[in-house]
Amino acid sequence: MAGPRTYRPGQAVGGDYSITGTLPTLADVIAFKEGTAEFDHGYYRFVSHPRLRELEETLKSRFHFRHCRLTESFEIALLELLICLHPPGSRTRIVILKQKDAAPPFTDTAFLPACEREGLSLVYTEDPGKDDAVIAVLRAEVGRLPEPLPAAPSVKFYVLRLGTARDAEQGGAVLSNAERVMARLAEQVKRRGPILSARCADYLLGNGDDRRDLDAGRRVADALCRREGGSQAFLYASGMSAITRVLDLLRRPGRSQVVAVGHLYNDTFTSLRRAPRLENEAPNVFLGVDELDRLGGLVGDQTAAILTETITNPLSDVPDIEVLSRVARACGVPLVVDNTIATPENCRPFELGADFVIHSTTKYLNGRNDHGGGAVIVREAQWARLLSDCQAVLNDRMSPGEAETLERNLGSLPARMCRFNENALRVASFLAGNPAVQRVFFNGLPEHRSNGTAKRLLRGPGSVISFVLVRNSLEGLRAFYDSPLSGVIKAPSLGSDRTLLCPYTLLTHYEDTDEVLEEIGLPRFLVRISVGCEEDITPVLESLKEALK
Ligand code: PLP
Repeated sequence: MAGPRTYRPGQAVGGDYSITGTLPTLADVIAFKEGTAEFDHGYYRFVSHPRLRELEETLKSRFHFRHCRLTESFEIALLELLICLHPPGSRTRIVILKQKDAAPPFTDTAFLPACEREGLSLVYTEDPGKDDAVIAVLRAEVGRLPEPLPAAPSVKFYVLRLGTARDAEQGGAVLSNAERVMARLAEQVKRRGPILSARCADYLLGNGDDRRDLDAGRRVADALCRREGGSQAFLYASGMSAITRVLDLLRRPGRSQVVAVGHLYNDTFTSLRRAPRLENEAPNVFLGVDELDRLGGLVGDQTAAILTETITNPLSDVPDIEVLSRVARACGVPLVVDNTIATPENCRPFELGADFVIHSTTKYLNGRNDHGGGAVIVREAQWARLLSDCQAVLNDRMSPGEAETLERNLGSLPARMCRFNENALRVASFLAGNPAVQRVFFNGLPEHRSNGTAKRLLRGPGSVISFVLVRNSLEGLRAFYDSPLSGVIKAPSLGSDRTLLCPYTLLTHYEDTDEVLEEIGLPRFLVRISVGCEEDITPVLESLKEALK
């Protein structure tokens, strides 16, 4: 069978370091989902940026391997590979060949997630003649790696540090010919989020601007703390990387259940659904925003965390965080709140009782489609210590280049959020009054089921709106989506200064059956629009009006 073919290159949105790309027609969306097309640009966790592909190809050809997976750090590359190689519930001893006199990346498995660490033991050797080492770890500069790589005969995976201690930017890579493990690793890294930034790849390739302000990350962390009212902030490579790190740390053996409230971001939901469990452990629980009366009965001794979002994506529900925090306090369980869509301008979850506040900084905080990152903010010293100890070992942090970009844009957040809120109210009211629209999901509209909670807990509704057409079919969706829509950008992602629109369910739940969609409450032909902070929203309204005719 022919492999994926280039169908139509989506355009980069956001310049050289774009984090998303356009999908101009519904046929493009379908080709992307069915794998019959490859796109040069796309949302950063799903489509590799050209600089990342270039770095992967460079490493593969220099060291003669068929597969390469890049990650945000050397230590994370090893950690993700270990998770991939150790079947939960089994006993696995992994021997790692390291360079003479080099310190091992880590010796105990304390930072691996609960179930993935049970039964795993690590042994380091410096003897390349030994025949039981499966992994070799190499700390060396990308331009000066020894060639051929030193190897014991049994080594199947090379974990490389990209960049040295002197370099501003660092990353990790796994090289191997083991087809199936590398495919699993690719899927796992995609889901858990510890990707390498395109800016970092450019630096490591020697292409990009290599001047870096190494203090930008600290200043961004301080600014996020102030905005959220926290005491310490930690920056990561992506929103998923931030979420994964918090949940990995909170989920201990015997106490690994997560109670998820509301329709969470798709990859958070998938991670929780797929998280392996040991036989005797309580499974993760998913609760609707209107089922909070059941919460007290569900949270128990085995619960590691309650997890929710201030405004959910794409249906714009607003969970009652005050109720969640009362139950969390009473049960002694931390409350983790993803505040990506509300931002601290619209909600400060610590004031409502949250213990951890998380952001995908890629979205509203940066707002220009040219940065990828994540953040965790805490108030209590015990959580700050846990995250800081972990970051010191795993070295999983936002690249300095990404931090500089975020710093440039963060300052305008208050002004931008005012316009996001205002523009979204205008677009939602327009959609609600248009005869071609069957239903609008937006917490700022009086008819939305979360409107009351939103008014009580939020200072503004945010700007993520979803809607269903009266012609609620593939053909109806195609007629709308394929029209010019010149005032908006047809691309995934949200929180950008320019309005973005995508066929949300087709993009995120393409293979799900009607029964599954019914169960999670997602209409198949749902359109999501992330209204931008344009000074004049009229062209957006005009092009929606035209497309809805
Ligand atoms: N949380 C929310 C609410 C999101 O919308 C997203 C992504 O869209 C994420 C987390 C994941 O962030 P990232 O894509 O930066 O990994």
